[in-house]
Amino acid sequence: MRIGLFTPLFQSLSLDQLLLELKKYPEITAVEIGCGGWPGSEHIDIDLLLNNSTAAKEYRQRFSDAGLIISALSCHNNPVHPQAAIAQRDRDIIDRTLRLAERLEVPGVAVGVVSGDEEHLAFAGVTSVEDPPTGAPGPREIEVRRSAKRRRTVSAYRDGARIVVLIPSRFTKAEEAQWVREMVERLDSSARRRRDGGDAALVRRAAELSTSYLGGRAKPASVRWVPSMRTRWASCTPADATIRLSARLRDMPHWVRDYVLVHELAHLLVPGHGPDFWALVQRYPRTERARGYLDGVSAAAHLDLADDLADDVDEPEDTADTA
Ligand SMILES: [Zn+2]
Repeated sequence: MRIGLFTPLFQSLSLDQLLLELKKYPEITAVEIGCGGWPGSEHIDIDLLLNNSTAAKEYRQRFSDAGLIISALSCHNNPVHPQAAIAQRDRDIIDRTLRLAERLEVPGVAVGVVSGDEEHLAFAGVTSVEDPPTGAPGPREIEVRRSAKRRRTVSAYRDGARIVVLIPSRFTKAEEAQWVREMVERLDSSARRRRDGGDAALVRRAAELSTSYLGGRAKPASVRWVPSMRTRWASCTPADATIRLSARLRDMPHWVRDYVLVHELAHLLVPGHGPDFWALVQRYPRTERARGYLDGVSAAAHLDLADDLADDVDEPEDTADTA
């Protein structure tokens, strides 16, 4: 018998952090990974793994290196939703989860079809269906849905840029206003925690790599995740020592992300891509392998990223569009 963990319970942790956390619990030897719908898909990049068999192999390897098996993939949503677009989206999630299970040779898929009116969200209180954009919060569209079936539970979730708040129909206007404020705040702070946690880990890793390979001389003022960039894996602005990594790198092997960090850190010392620069970067032993990996991912996903990190150094005035 194995004891397994349903990874969405740790959705505030990155995959790296999750694997580290699991080291504390040697009795846990299996994981069930959320692949979308209500469990979210925080720990898996479904598109990448479906499009790139090397990435899929690496992904599995990370778990077996940690002494874990992936016992199941999991998605729970509503493929029979009365709104055709939502039903279709949810059917796609299920389909992709099944295909991914085959690719990852995972023996089980847990699919829960949850019909009705999002009442299921109540058990978690707050569910973030999609990550909000990481930029500063602007004015947002908030939709309040009253439900006669709902007695006392209030829940909220994000649907793209919109926030949907579900309340019992007997609530007064004042109660509604109070709960909308409360739920929006909760959603925001959980998103903030997730973001900050991720960035904090990135800052720590950058410091370790700077010490190991660059004599500690590269001292970034900030290192943070930004939403996936179509044409760049990462960027930096030597003038203010800031580094940004594309969210696309989140689920790649740690040694690929480390290479990108070393690359950007080296730019804080040498801005261009001349021999001096590469001499620094090549102190990181897996540089060539990581560059090959990124090339492979670009080609497989038809991304315009084939030039590696050739255009990643920004003048200060350039940074607005990647921020
Ligand atoms: Zn570069």
